[in-house]
Amino acid sequence: MGYVDEVIELVVKKNPAEPEFHQAVKEVLESLRAVVDANEEKFRKEGLLERLVEPDRQIKFRVPWVDDNGNVQVNTGYRVQFNNAIGPYKGGLRLHPSVNLGIIKFLGFEQIFKNSLTGLPIGGGKGGSDFDPKGKSDREVLAFCTSFITELYKYIGADVDVPAGDIGTGAREIGYMYGQYKKITGSYEGVLTGKGLTFGGSLARTEATGYGLLYLTEEMLKCNGKDIKGKIVTVSGSGNVAIYAIQKAHQLGAKCVTCSDSNGWVYDPDGIDVEALKEIKEVKRERLTEYKKYRPNSEYHEGRGVWTVKCDVALPCATQNELLLEDAKVLVANGCIAVAEGANMPTTLDATEYLQKNGVMFAPGKAANAGGVATSALEMTQNSERLSWTFEEVDSKLKQIMVNIFHNLDDAAKRYNAEGNYVVGANIAGFEKVANAMLAQGI
Ligand code: GLU
Repeated sequence: MGYVDEVIELVVKKNPAEPEFHQAVKEVLESLRAVVDANEEKFRKEGLLERLVEPDRQIKFRVPWVDDNGNVQVNTGYRVQFNNAIGPYKGGLRLHPSVNLGIIKFLGFEQIFKNSLTGLPIGGGKGGSDFDPKGKSDREVLAFCTSFITELYKYIGADVDVPAGDIGTGAREIGYMYGQYKKITGSYEGVLTGKGLTFGGSLARTEATGYGLLYLTEEMLKCNGKDIKGKIVTVSGSGNVAIYAIQKAHQLGAKCVTCSDSNGWVYDPDGIDVEALKEIKEVKRERLTEYKKYRPNSEYHEGRGVWTVKCDVALPCATQNELLLEDAKVLVANGCIAVAEGANMPTTLDATEYLQKNGVMFAPGKAANAGGVATSALEMTQNSERLSWTFEEVDSKLKQIMVNIFHNLDDAAKRYNAEGNYVVGANIAGFEKVANAMLAQGI
């Protein structure tokens, strides 16, 4: 048994109830085999992989808050500070009933390599809570966010750990958290990203993950002799990532015909109306069943089914493990040429392998959705400078970052005889920088 297998076994043994974390560790370490084999003696001596899979620290805390009936509710809060070898911990806060330590650890682990791939000095972390903002009043969300930060503030800081949004945490939640941080500490610092534009937020941060996904997809297609223009695109999800992925797809001349939420999905043969989607999801916070009112030509279906729609390019932008082997088979049979992950780990391992074996270009989330955190890092830079850049300035930096990410992972894959395998390329390129920094800094 090699070093990689030993460490995977160790992770499973030490963290028995964390299947998503196992999945992420397996996906990363197995694709690093070539690099690990070439450096096995040194890495073993340094305990490098054992150190990599163990977070620097895991913070778990009680979040009590009062609901609109005057009753006290209690949620669990988490922050996993995984690795700060190349910069302050950086990563979002997920607010969703499914959140548990294993999910936060998988996301934090992925974040290390994603953040490294951006080329910017940010380490990996992630946090969140099993609180569900859906259906809660503004006052209840404020009560939760205030309580959450009242505990978390001790562990974060502009040069220490900088949380941001993720599923369930948008501009409203970040605003409430920032207000409470400032009240407790008295410090007006860039401790959170995704802030409102009037108090230190960056232009283009809202659009960044979706736009970045399309910039990387466009470059991947271009380098494989294809053009995004004229392509039929399917997107899952209807949150911040999906909305701006659809918008940029349309700007680049593609047509996106689907989106989804946790109850069902929409097929719009004329292309999804982004303004209608924003109105439903961001302004009214309603379900996708409403979409038909805006676009009578569209269809609404209960359950899952986005991947049954014939497409050239599929962009899973909802959540983890939403594109399964059976979906991958349908995509291949329907002639799909590329899949790029807007969400974190939306494609299962067997589905990824199937797509790659059948010649589908596959861009993993840690590369394809890195535009969000990259622009968060640009927000941190602007906060340090006490300056605000224009939309065009941020957007052009974002585009350059995404194009660079693609070429870095393409080159890394080629260096290790895995040409065209962007999963291997992304993991190797992300790992190399972090590993070098860890080795240089002792234990
Ligand atoms: N939640 C996003 C991600 O998964 C963004 C994190 C950030 O901006 O720090 O990368």
